[in-house]
Amino acid sequence: MPEQTLASESLAFDPEELTRRYQLERDRRIREDAESQFVEVTNDAPFANTFLADDPYSETIERDPIRDVRDVIVIGGGWVGMMTATRLIQSGVTGVRIIESGADFGGTWYWNRYPGAQCDIESYSYLPLLEETGYVPKLRYSYAPEIYEHAQRIGRHFDLYKDAIFQTSVTELRWDEETSLWLVSTNRGDEMKARYVCLGTGPANRPRMPGIPGVEKFKGHNFHTCRWDYEYTGGGPEGQLEKLANKKVAIIGTGATAVQCVPSLGASAEQLYVFQRTPSSVDVRNNSETDPQWAADLEPGWQAARQKRFGEALIGGEIDPEFEDEGWTRMARNIRTLVQQGDLDADQLGDLPQLADFKTMEQIRSHVDRTVADPEVAEKLKAFYNQFCKRPTFNDDYLGTFNRSNVELVDVSETKGVEQITERGIVANGKEYEVDCIIYASGFEITSSYQRRIGFPIYGVEGESIYDHWSDGMCTMHGLMAHGFPNLFFCGGLFVFQLGANYCYGVDVQAKHVAYTVSELMKRNIQMAEPSAEAEQEWVVDQLSSESSQAQLVLGGSPASCTPGYYNQEGTRERYRDVRLESYGKGLGAYRKVLDGWRMQNELKGLVLTEK
Ligand code: NDP
Repeated sequence: MPEQTLASESLAFDPEELTRRYQLERDRRIREDAESQFVEVTNDAPFANTFLADDPYSETIERDPIRDVRDVIVIGGGWVGMMTATRLIQSGVTGVRIIESGADFGGTWYWNRYPGAQCDIESYSYLPLLEETGYVPKLRYSYAPEIYEHAQRIGRHFDLYKDAIFQTSVTELRWDEETSLWLVSTNRGDEMKARYVCLGTGPANRPRMPGIPGVEKFKGHNFHTCRWDYEYTGGGPEGQLEKLANKKVAIIGTGATAVQCVPSLGASAEQLYVFQRTPSSVDVRNNSETDPQWAADLEPGWQAARQKRFGEALIGGEIDPEFEDEGWTRMARNIRTLVQQGDLDADQLGDLPQLADFKTMEQIRSHVDRTVADPEVAEKLKAFYNQFCKRPTFNDDYLGTFNRSNVELVDVSETKGVEQITERGIVANGKEYEVDCIIYASGFEITSSYQRRIGFPIYGVEGESIYDHWSDGMCTMHGLMAHGFPNLFFCGGLFVFQLGANYCYGVDVQAKHVAYTVSELMKRNIQMAEPSAEAEQEWVVDQLSSESSQAQLVLGGSPASCTPGYYNQEGTRERYRDVRLESYGKGLGAYRKVLDGWRMQNELKGLVLTEK
């Protein structure tokens, strides 16, 4: 078509050709077994104590079981739990107990200590409560140790340690109708009670394992990236993994985690095989040290204002000059450039987000060509899908690692994944790769079943299981409270990426709301509060009507057109639940307005209240 030719000329790429290529790359990766290709990691065979149970970072401290009653128990001591507890305390709620499975605060930053781990969102916007704790990160993109330290800083600053219990996993949550209290059982034999429970188990708390035949047969060493075994590899978060100098190492997966740890592995191992099924988009990072003068000049309110500007820049609003060189705004900048060039016709303007996405990904693919010496390897490292089909990554050392003579990229896309694991190593493309160690960078149970993600049973009124209540998809009011599960808050969202790339900002929006609700219920002497069935249904209808907006735009039409991954439940059309019900498609700004408006009314609208 003439229009297409014009578009191709002015855009320097052919949208039709790219559309065909994206479709091809998607189709050849779709697996019939979809999400069931992954197996649940439990503490039993075949994974007993390999990927989950062991805490390689701390000794377990024995203690007596606890039997007491609290006003509020927060489950999870990562960002969600910490921010919820902090906002509760700031609202005047006292004695908030956090229960955490790790030996300290930090959640994902407690467990993920792999070399090179770093936040991929700028730290000034990502790290919570910077102003409140008087801290300014050392780098624009902080590394994991600094982030973990910040979690501890928050714990000290808000005195969260005083009431926290570590190395403890909840095993059951049960509503007791006689007392209107939640009964909280744990793996330490605790039987605690609480008036309110806030669930802050987070999206990346459970590692995900591909069900590759033979996983349990491997006789060498293996671990998941979220349980990095420095005793085996040597070195630390900054790399220098000296014990790998005489080791052949395989890493399975090339998502955001692998992109960060592959450079250290490549620099340290005798031989590194990187097993890639789908390449990540890898944009430049351009990290820099924080300018001390800039830090000294920050005005009160700076972080909230910055988070807002950052959020606006990400979704194509005004791009503050501070974010002009920020990787996450590349797409928004491309939209602006295409409009400013002024040579798109009306049809093309209608397709603007998709054209900007093509342009973005072309830039990222050309970066691969510029960095990787071997053209065949470069071709394999190019991502052919829309930028937000998978978590975009940013790293200045990953692509160059494939120029090393001791690093081999093994493309397993033809077989839709690694074929088999043997006693000695990995079989891919019909060849056995003998290795000493296999590292699984295979991600987390971010979008699999609620039961697997939360990890314990929850029984509400009349013993109803939350997983039965949600058998067709999550149904809540505001994504926070469910009918039949009084005084229980689902904090942090269970499937939140649509709340914006800056996860912690979205978490705080909810944390403030939960803090208001709990403190208000306490002030009003309410024993029990739950959304009415009607209020829950109203929210569900709103969720469904919001489907068309942000997610569709970002994902270039439909998640179904993306390559498979956890964002789109492995690309299946037939889903075992409706993921739209978990997120708010109109975006974080609209969501925040809904919650702000509800609080302004000060009526606790939609909640059925039972007084003491
Ligand atoms: P991902 O789920 O993103 O990646 C898992 C990888 O394992 C994918 O490359 C996947 O391939 C691959 N894989 C799965 N099964 C097989 C198989 N059978 N054979 C071969 N390969 C396989 O996990 P990550 O840990 O990388 O990241 C998870 C999330 O954590 C990110 O999306 C991000 O939200 C967060 N994160 C954030 C960071 C930050 O800086 N803030 C840093 C790191 C992670 P395929 O794509 O084909 O399925």
